[in-house]
Amino acid sequence: MNSELRQLIKRRGFYFLSQESYGGSAGFYTYGPEGASLKANIEDAWRRQFKQKESNMEIDSPTIMKEAVFDASGHTETFDDMIIECGKCGEQHRADHLVEDNTEIDEAEAFAAEKIEEIIEDENIQCPSCGASLSGIKVNDFNLMFETSIGPGDAERGFLRPETAQGIFVEFPRLKEYARNDFPFGVVQIGRSYRNEISPRGGLSRVREFTQAELENFILPGQDPDISDVEDVELRLYSRKLQDEGAEPAEMTVKESLEKDVVASEWVAYYLGVAQRWYERIGVDPERLRFRQHQEDELSHYASDCWDAETDVGHEEKDWLEITGFAFRGCHDVKQHHNHSNEDYRVFREYDEPKEIEVKDISPDMSYFGPEFGDQAGKVIEKLEELVEDSPEVFEQETIEIEVSGEEIEVPSEKAGFSQRTEEKDGEKVFPQVVEPSFGVDRIFYSILVHSFEQDEVDGEERNVLRLEREVAPVEVAVMPLMDKDGLGEKAEEIRDELQEAGFRVDYDDSGSIGRRYRRQDEVGTPYCVTVDYETLEDEDVTLRDRDSTEQQRVEIGSLAEKLGE
Ligand code: AMP
Repeated sequence: MNSELRQLIKRRGFYFLSQESYGGSAGFYTYGPEGASLKANIEDAWRRQFKQKESNMEIDSPTIMKEAVFDASGHTETFDDMIIECGKCGEQHRADHLVEDNTEIDEAEAFAAEKIEEIIEDENIQCPSCGASLSGIKVNDFNLMFETSIGPGDAERGFLRPETAQGIFVEFPRLKEYARNDFPFGVVQIGRSYRNEISPRGGLSRVREFTQAELENFILPGQDPDISDVEDVELRLYSRKLQDEGAEPAEMTVKESLEKDVVASEWVAYYLGVAQRWYERIGVDPERLRFRQHQEDELSHYASDCWDAETDVGHEEKDWLEITGFAFRGCHDVKQHHNHSNEDYRVFREYDEPKEIEVKDISPDMSYFGPEFGDQAGKVIEKLEELVEDSPEVFEQETIEIEVSGEEIEVPSEKAGFSQRTEEKDGEKVFPQVVEPSFGVDRIFYSILVHSFEQDEVDGEERNVLRLEREVAPVEVAVMPLMDKDGLGEKAEEIRDELQEAGFRVDYDDSGSIGRRYRRQDEVGTPYCVTVDYETLEDEDVTLRDRDSTEQQRVEIGSLAEKLGE
């Protein structure tokens, strides 16, 4: 980040390290008044697009969730980063980042721990804190979730959610009722997520508590989106193939991306188009925006295809930052919660006309399973149920071999009560699939600041200006009396009140020279200033100044709100 921008952010209090009087805590930031407004406006703009325009529902779920939820989602098992601890100074580092920082490799996260150890050894990578060699030190997995306990005494284990998504998934059985079982439907949530990042860095870009705006779109297999509204939107796509070839990203429309099979899922392509438009509208520079496809070994445990929106936030050289992930999560999440919870997460889908269906199921003999397997009986039956779908032929054998809690178990086939028959059915229960655009609000905020900052010259003086889009600017219009006397202040206050009444975000500023006040508003991105002077008292006209062109025009007070509304 440009050092002038860094100073501006600090001076004007957009955000700062939190709890600094206690030494601060890495990865936790407080948004100051300008920053909190900008962030809230980004969230509102997101809500207008992804909730209202896309006709989705919004929920607000707890940030602390039970361990069982994350056992089901896979986070307790696999939500890890790679950590290495320096043998000399004891400092802990994120091992894949050390590799990225010290080699030409861009995406080391995808590598296995052994490969990272090998690279650290081959490249003789040293501890960034004390300079000691890290060769030969084991790279371990570190789970990123913050653990907590729920309730006193023999408390229940819980976690601060690492993504808002699970709060939506666990409520799916209710949400589908609210959606009147009418698929596809989408549910959005804006809220805090927590990740105990090993080495938070880059200011807001890698923090331990951040805000996500996530949309989970539930679709039934075979349902396609109507892409007509975004088919001509231009995207810059960095496919897996282009990354492997070391080529530049390719530009094409949403429609072409599907025709050329660059993006496999119509839903993902649709959201790339919607998001591209939205980013441009809120002030992400389209020249510094691209969509990068995940490499196969980079994909999360739940995703079958994923594209990241990335912005260049570098100063002198490019520095790409993931701001949003667009993942096709299939039915992974819904199925996991179906299997681990007490509720049915499937959806009844009616056929156009009744069908003859081959039905396979089991009817376990509980007088055998209970005494034989005790508290493991449920798990044994669950395994057998999975086999009914995946490999029904095993029930033809005399005994079935399965693994439960790491133990090999043999079950006599006859006790499972397997049957196969034909039935006439009106429909079937299916798992919905999920497409998820997951936006990181803090990183979008950061990108907008970097992209909107400029230094130019006005009246022979250098000025800092944030060319924020009006939709997200903390203040839309600043009202200022030339001087606070002779009734100018009262007049300006009247105008401020009227504009506020008309729904504008207004600031009132009466201290210092007008030139200094303009500069103050320019550097926090206020698009318009209204100045009340002596002539105003006579002709009811004010000066309206435009931040970007610095042009000024006289406007009648009575038509000010309408003019600004344009
Ligand atoms: P993920 O679930 O990892 O795909 O994250 C979804 C989005 O959340 C990312 O695109 C980021 O914008 C944001 N995000 C993830 N981790 C962090 C973090 N540590 N700090 C700030 N934003 C984050």
